[in-house]
Amino acid sequence: MYDLVIRGGKVIDPSQDLEATCDVAVADGRIVAVERSLAGKGRQELDATGLIVLPGLVDIHTHVYPYVSHYGICADEWCLPRGVTTVVDAGTAGRCTWQGLKHWVCESSRTRVYCFLHISGMGLLSDYVGEAEELRWLNPAAARILAAENPALIKGIKVRLDRNRVGASGLEPLLRAKAAADPLGLPIMVHVGKTPVPLAEIVAQLKPGDIVTHTFHGWEHGVLDEGGKVFPELRAAAQRGIIFDVGHGAGSFSFLVAEAALAAGFLPGTISSDLHTYNIHGPVYDLPTVMAKFLFMGLSLREVVARVTVGAARAVGLAEVAGSLVPGRTADIALLQEVEGRFRFDDCFGNVRFAPRTLLPRYVCLGGELHPARSAAPWR
Ligand SMILES: [Zn+2]
Repeated sequence: MYDLVIRGGKVIDPSQDLEATCDVAVADGRIVAVERSLAGKGRQELDATGLIVLPGLVDIHTHVYPYVSHYGICADEWCLPRGVTTVVDAGTAGRCTWQGLKHWVCESSRTRVYCFLHISGMGLLSDYVGEAEELRWLNPAAARILAAENPALIKGIKVRLDRNRVGASGLEPLLRAKAAADPLGLPIMVHVGKTPVPLAEIVAQLKPGDIVTHTFHGWEHGVLDEGGKVFPELRAAAQRGIIFDVGHGAGSFSFLVAEAALAAGFLPGTISSDLHTYNIHGPVYDLPTVMAKFLFMGLSLREVVARVTVGAARAVGLAEVAGSLVPGRTADIALLQEVEGRFRFDDCFGNVRFAPRTLLPRYVCLGGELHPARSAAPWR
């Protein structure tokens, strides 16, 4: 007897090259079998006919430090009920505010919360002052020591390079992020858009595994040249292992840029939401809605799923614990429904698309416990 059997859903798990109608059995909080027509019964059975059964979604760019950062939202309220079982807080905390994130968020949430530590000690407290304008906040040795002491939670170093955040500091914040991250072999997540220099100059500083977030922003110094072509240096960077992440956000995603880049075969390595206070009521809503935007733009469901499960987990050093339904893994599972209709998708630049289908979370299983899930989008 299993604790839970999820029957008849379409299981898509790129970590094991699986896309088939299967039953998923859970016992003692772990996946124990993924099979066509599983024989044994479950104490709890869920008929998942018509649903897509995925590894619990992994969102590598969120801001889940409420009450301290103006960006902060509650992960258990805004991520978990959408099928997102693992999130990475992308630099909301720096070393001066990190203990609070650790205690009140990482260790207190039901959602599995990891983080990228901001290279600026203040993290993302407010927008009154750019966090990297005053370089005294950016102490690479202190950040490195904190990250080295907390490898279970700190998965990388975050830096934001737009002009409003760096002021006259130029690329120095990036160099300090490198000084903190590189000796530990940790990735840096670089927020781009309105940067003082072209993106090619920024990626030239990065090592394989480093992450560029807000890849499809619509500001200057993006991925496209004036003729609308993807810069060859960026293709080369992707080739050598730089990860280009979506990080949709409230001001960092343009359909025009994304559509041109995808048409040119420049696909994101990971799809993340950059979910925070200013976009939970649109244009982001939740990670499944961001996934649906990429389906709409022509990626296959499997390509999309890979970028929010195994690909995302791998990018943040969590490949062993998240993003897979291989037997033995913790039973974190997302059940979504692909529904048809007419769904209004907004980017951050006034461009609107009406999509004939979207993805709605219906259930989420966290460590073997099944809960109903529902979209944050208005159509639910
Ligand atoms: Zn962000």
